[in-house]
Amino acid sequence: MTQGQGQGQAQGQGRRGAGHQGRPLLNRSLAGFGTTIFAEMSALAARTGSINLGQGFPDTDGPEEIREAAVSALRSGHGNQYPPGPGVPELRAAVADHQKRFYGLDWSPETEVLVTTGATEAVAAALLALVEPGDEVIAFEPYYDSYAACIAMAGGVRVPLTLRAPAFRPDLDELRAKITPRTRLLLLNTPHNPTGTVLTPEELSGIAALAVEHDLLVVTDEVYEHLVFAGSHHPIAALPGMRERTVSISSAGKTYSYTGWKIGWVTADAPLVTAVRSAKQYLTFVSGGPFQYAIAEALQLPDTFFTEFREGMRRRRDLLAEGLRSAGFRVYEPEGTYFITTDISPFGQEDAYAFCRALPERCGVAAVPVSVFYDDPEAGRSQVRFTFCKREDVLEEAVERLGRLG
Ligand code: PMP
Ligand code: GLN
Repeated sequence: MTQGQGQGQAQGQGRRGAGHQGRPLLNRSLAGFGTTIFAEMSALAARTGSINLGQGFPDTDGPEEIREAAVSALRSGHGNQYPPGPGVPELRAAVADHQKRFYGLDWSPETEVLVTTGATEAVAAALLALVEPGDEVIAFEPYYDSYAACIAMAGGVRVPLTLRAPAFRPDLDELRAKITPRTRLLLLNTPHNPTGTVLTPEELSGIAALAVEHDLLVVTDEVYEHLVFAGSHHPIAALPGMRERTVSISSAGKTYSYTGWKIGWVTADAPLVTAVRSAKQYLTFVSGGPFQYAIAEALQLPDTFFTEFREGMRRRRDLLAEGLRSAGFRVYEPEGTYFITTDISPFGQEDAYAFCRALPERCGVAAVPVSVFYDDPEAGRSQVRFTFCKREDVLEEAVERLGRLG
């Protein structure tokens, strides 16, 4: 059992149990994927009344006018009944315009954009559509938890490429060595949760060259595309030879601070979108009708919105990074996302999971152990992630509490 799969066991909730007919209830592919670490640590934060710097959700809603757009869609009956399978035309057009405006990419709103129930469903549908049982999927570790579960549900074999502290850069020679005749797909995430790594144009070109050479598909999760503090975001889909093999995924949750609305999208060449849609239509069919209209407007917000959002987060990143450093953590400054990965070794502790279980009682702050996102038990053993998508006064209070750790 790998450590990533072992999260459930660590919590005692992922056991397959007695079940029926002498068989466990939970099927084999999901064995070990118990309650997500985010849910577990959020429950712990709530139970202990702690400041929750674990699960990544903002404590302030996004733009008022976007919420009003959702209210007005609800009131006027836009999207109250099943919207079209690929998403409402207004949102598909807005997604295509946004990709053009920020990256110069051209996608047909009719055939090359698919609206999903958050990026989570987009990842699930892409993997279920494109992976055959036994296919190998190479993904960076530490990985976002749903990747491992979705690869398993698709019957795929996950092959981790470890991003190692302190720099968390992908080693392209190692990537080349991991590609086998069974490799089907590279699952990328940039900006990367939880390390904050933003792939450089050189890294992306190297990865793209390998994908082309070995005729691999690429699924790229870019939900933090507007949260880049160093360098800039580059979609791999824009590189030569990549358009016809790349499924790009993003979502409204992070950029517009409405994580509960669950509006995500896929952009890709028409045959890839058709494949992903085949899976998506039997997962949820459609979702979030009125919210789709609101997010169509959000995507058209002026550049100043995106700049102010990023700069506000940068201030909070600096505040939390400085606070964590003075509290005694080793801090790996993120280039993107709204997470900071730290190392707890300076406290004389090595077990991130145990540390996070105890942290709320010790000082009234909750965090997430990064160790559960690795297959390599050594690589992330003492890493703990904190989010900074909270109000500055909340972060200041958290820093003060963490300062008492001693
Ligand atoms: N991918 C990554 C890397 C994430 O951090 C998250 C959490 N927002 C998701 C996907 C899920 O996105 P959504 O809430 O849109 O499903
Ligand atoms: N993406 C969020 C995070 O990394 C969590 C979303 C979830 O709870 N599944 O914290």
